[in-house]
Amino acid sequence: TKWVYTFGNGQAEGSALEGERLGGKGANLAEMCNLGLPVPPGLTIIAGACSAYYKNGRQIAEELKAQVRAGIEGIEEITGRRFGAGDRPLLLSVRSGARVSMPGMMDTVLNLGLNDETVQALGHDAGDARFAWDSYRRFIQMYADVVMRLDHEVFEEILEDEKARLGYEFDTELTANEWQHVVSLYKSLIEEELGEEFPQDPEVQLWGAVGAVFASWMSVRAVTYRQLHNIPEGWGTAVNIQAMVFGNHGNSSATGVAFTRNPSTGNKSLYGEFLVNAQGEDVVAGIRTPQSITEEGRISSGSERPSMEKLMPDAFKELSGICSELETHYREMQDIEFTIERGKLWMLQTRAGKRSTRAAMKIAVDMVDEKLITEEEAVLRIEPSSLDQLLHPTIDPRVTREIIGTGLPASPGAATGEIVFTAEEAVTASEEGRKVILLRVETSPEDIHGMHAAEGILTTRGGMTSHAAVVARGMGIPCVVGAGGMRIDARNERLIGVGVTLKKGDVITIDGSAGQVLKGDVQMIQPELSGDFGRIMQWADRARRMTVRTNADTPADARAARSFGAEGIGLCRTEHMFFEGDRIHLMREMILAEDETGRRAALDSLLPVQRHDFTSLFNVMHGLPVTIRLLDPPLHEFLPKTDEEIADVSAAMGMDAAALRQRVDALHEFNPMLGHRGCRLAISYPEIVEMQARAIFEAAVAAAHETGAAVVPEIMVPLVGLRSELDYVKERIDAIAGDVMAEAGMRIDYLVGTMIELPRAALRAHIIAEAAEFFSFGTNDLTQTTFGISRDDASAFIPTYQRKGIIEHDPFISLDFDGVGELIRIAAERGRRTRNDMKLGICGEHGGDPVSIHFCEEIGLDYVSCSPFRVPIARLAAAQAVI
Ligand code: ADP
Ligand code: MG
Ligand code: MG
Repeated sequence: TKWVYTFGNGQAEGSALEGERLGGKGANLAEMCNLGLPVPPGLTIIAGACSAYYKNGRQIAEELKAQVRAGIEGIEEITGRRFGAGDRPLLLSVRSGARVSMPGMMDTVLNLGLNDETVQALGHDAGDARFAWDSYRRFIQMYADVVMRLDHEVFEEILEDEKARLGYEFDTELTANEWQHVVSLYKSLIEEELGEEFPQDPEVQLWGAVGAVFASWMSVRAVTYRQLHNIPEGWGTAVNIQAMVFGNHGNSSATGVAFTRNPSTGNKSLYGEFLVNAQGEDVVAGIRTPQSITEEGRISSGSERPSMEKLMPDAFKELSGICSELETHYREMQDIEFTIERGKLWMLQTRAGKRSTRAAMKIAVDMVDEKLITEEEAVLRIEPSSLDQLLHPTIDPRVTREIIGTGLPASPGAATGEIVFTAEEAVTASEEGRKVILLRVETSPEDIHGMHAAEGILTTRGGMTSHAAVVARGMGIPCVVGAGGMRIDARNERLIGVGVTLKKGDVITIDGSAGQVLKGDVQMIQPELSGDFGRIMQWADRARRMTVRTNADTPADARAARSFGAEGIGLCRTEHMFFEGDRIHLMREMILAEDETGRRAALDSLLPVQRHDFTSLFNVMHGLPVTIRLLDPPLHEFLPKTDEEIADVSAAMGMDAAALRQRVDALHEFNPMLGHRGCRLAISYPEIVEMQARAIFEAAVAAAHETGAAVVPEIMVPLVGLRSELDYVKERIDAIAGDVMAEAGMRIDYLVGTMIELPRAALRAHIIAEAAEFFSFGTNDLTQTTFGISRDDASAFIPTYQRKGIIEHDPFISLDFDGVGELIRIAAERGRRTRNDMKLGICGEHGGDPVSIHFCEEIGLDYVSCSPFRVPIARLAAAQAVI
C-alpha cells in the first residue's frame, strides 16, 4: 500500500482533490506546493493508516515506518539537513489533519528532532544559540503535553517563576543560557512526574508523535464531536510531517494567520495578525498581543504597534500576492497560516475561511462581480438558515452582555422593552407607543393580540414547538421560551432572574437567536435587505422551480411576507382572526348558542368581520393565490376556563355563570387534537362553513373591485380522512359560491382542496383527489398523527429521545423522511394519478426548513409555505435544491 504522499520543491504527489485520502490540511499543502508557492517540504500519511493503526493493535506498521523514513530522506535532500544528526539538523512538525477540521484532535508538535546534541548543532549552524534553546524548550513542553500527557500548565509555571526571578516581562527577553536552564528544569520535571526521561532519540520522538495523532482520533472529545456532527469513525485522520521553518529566529522572523477577506464584514482586504520572533502557538496563546498585518487593520484597531505591511514590506507584498493567487485558484475566501524566517515567507496552511452571514453575502456577490464564481455558485455558498441573522435586528457584537436568564432560542432576533405580564397590558402599552416584552409562564391563543403588540416574548415553560415558539416564529417576533432558571411572579408583577428581581416597567432585552435574557437596553444592528442580500435572492429566484408562499393570518403578516418575497399565501388560519379584540365575544356567542338559530345570529355578526379581514388580505396579495383554511381547532379553545374567566364572560354575555360552566364542561374533550375539530365541525355545524365561504367570496368580489386584480381563493378543508367528508363540505361551499356569483353578477374562480394531515387521507389520496382540486401537506398534524405523538406534549420526552439516541432530529422541526415523508410521497403520487395537474404544497413548520425543502423539491411539490420571516430562507433553499 502507498501510505505516504510527499510534497516539496514545487511538486506534490497529492492535490486538493484528494482531501478524503490526505485530509484537508495535507491536500491543501500539496495543492499549494503544486502551485509553486513556498511550502516547507514534507509528507502526508494517508487517513487510511489511522484505521490500520487500530487494526494493528495501536502499533505503527513497519511498512509505514519505512515509507515515512524514505519520505524524510526526500525532505533531507531538499533542505540539505539531516534528521537527528549532523551539523545541520532537520527539525520537523507533526500535524494532524482529518477530512474536516475537528476539535479534540492532537495539537501540533513543533521542533521535533531536538535533543541535547542537535540543539548544539542547531545553535552553531544558525549562529544563534538563543534561538536553538528557545526551540528546544518549546519542543519539550509541546511533546510532553500532547504525547506524554503532562499538563502544559506546570511548564508555564516554571517559566513564569523564571521570568519573575529574572525580572522579565516577555519570553523574548530570555538569553540562551537562561533558556538552557529552563530546559533542564523542564527535563527534571518530566523525570519527577513520569519517572522516565524525555526521549532523546529522534526516531522515538517521531513515532511517539505519529502514534499520538492516531490515538487522538479516539479521544473522548473527538468521539463526541463526531457523534454530534455525523462524522464516520472510519474516516480516520491523516498525519502531516513537515520541515520546520522558524518564526522565532530573531526580529526578522514572525508567524501569523490571515483571511484573504475580512471575515466579519466581507470587505476585500487582507485581514490578520502576526507576531514577531514567535512560533505558531504564541499567536493564539495570548502571551503577547499580536499585531495587525495591514496598515488599515492597525489603524482601525487603534494600535500603535507597527503592521507587517510597514515592518516587513517585502514579505507583506509577497503574502498579498499569494493570497490573491490562492483566491483565484480556489475561487473562495481563504484562511491561511504562514511563517517568516529571516525575511523569507513560508506558507503553512490554507483552507476556506469561516465568515459571518453578512460577510458570506458580500463575498459571494463580490466574487460574482469579479467573475470568480457564477451566480448559481454564489447561491450555493449561503447557508439558508443563516439568513435568520440578517432579517432581524441583532445585538451589536461589541456589547458586553449582562445575562440574567437563559432559555431556548425559539424565534430569532433581539428585542428590547419594558416588561409586562399580561397580553392586555402589552396591547395598551403598544397603543401608547411604548415598547414591551411580554412575559408569560406559557402562552395560549388568548394571548395572540398581546404577542402581536409586543416587541418580544419570554416564557419560562415550554419547548421549541410550544405555542409561544410557533406563534412568535410565525410573527417574526424574537422569543425565548423555557427560561426555567427565571421565575415569573405575575401576581406581584415581578420577574426573578439570576441575581436580580425586576418589576413591571423595567427594561430587558431578549436575544431570541441565543436564548438569552439581558438586563436593560443594548445597542442593536438593523437588518439590511437590499444590496448583497437582494442580489443573492434575485439569483435564487431565477434558479428555483418551486414557488414560495407564506403562512399568514393577518394583513400585517401578509405585507411582511410580501416584502420578503412571498408569492402567495399557503395557509391562512381563519381561527386566529377570531381571537382579535371583541370578536372573541361573538365567537363565544356562536359556540354557546343553544341551537342553529342562535348560532346563525352570531354568525351573521361575524360575517362582516371575516369579510373585512379577507378583503384586506386579498388586497395586500393583489391577485396572488391565497389558501384559506376553514375553522380548524376544537371549539373549547375559544371558551373561558378558570372560574374568574367564566365570571367575566358570563357578565359580558349576560348569561348565567352556572349555565355557562355547564356548556363549557359539555364541550370538554379528552383528546381534543383528535376530537371534534377540522371538517368534523363543518359537518356538525354547516352554518359555520357557509358563513366563512360567503365571507371569502364576497371579499373576492370586493377585492376585485378595489384592486382590479382577481384573486383565486383556494378554500382548504382541514382534517379530511374520508372523501365523503370533503364532498359534504364542498357541496356547501359550491352552493354559496353560486349564490354570491349570482348576487354580484360576476364570475369568481376558486378551488376547493384539502389538507393532507391524516395517514388515511394520504393512503386514500387517489379517491380524495376526485373531489379535491389541491392538496396541502399539513406536516405538523401529519407528523403528530403518523407518530401518534402529541405535539403539545412532545417536549416532555423528545429531548430525552435525542439524548439517548432513539431519534436524531425532532420530527416536528425536521421532516421525518422515512415515515411522514413516505406518506407524503404516496399521497402526492396517488393524488396526481387521479388529477395530474393537481397543485401540491406543504404548509407545516417544515415548509421553512431547508432540509425538508430539498425533500419537497425531490418529490415535485409545486410550492412550500412558511412563516413570513422564513420566506427568504425557503427561497434560497428551494434554489439550492435544484442547482
Ligand atoms: P491546527 O490544525 O491546530 O491549526 P497546525 O498543524 O496548522 O495546527 O499547526 C499550528 C501552527 O503550528 C501553524 O499555524 C504554524 O504556525 C505552526 N507550524 C506547523 N507546522 C509548521 C512548520 N513546518 N514550521 C513552522 N511552524 C509550523
Ligand atoms: Mg493550522
Ligand atoms: Mg392541522
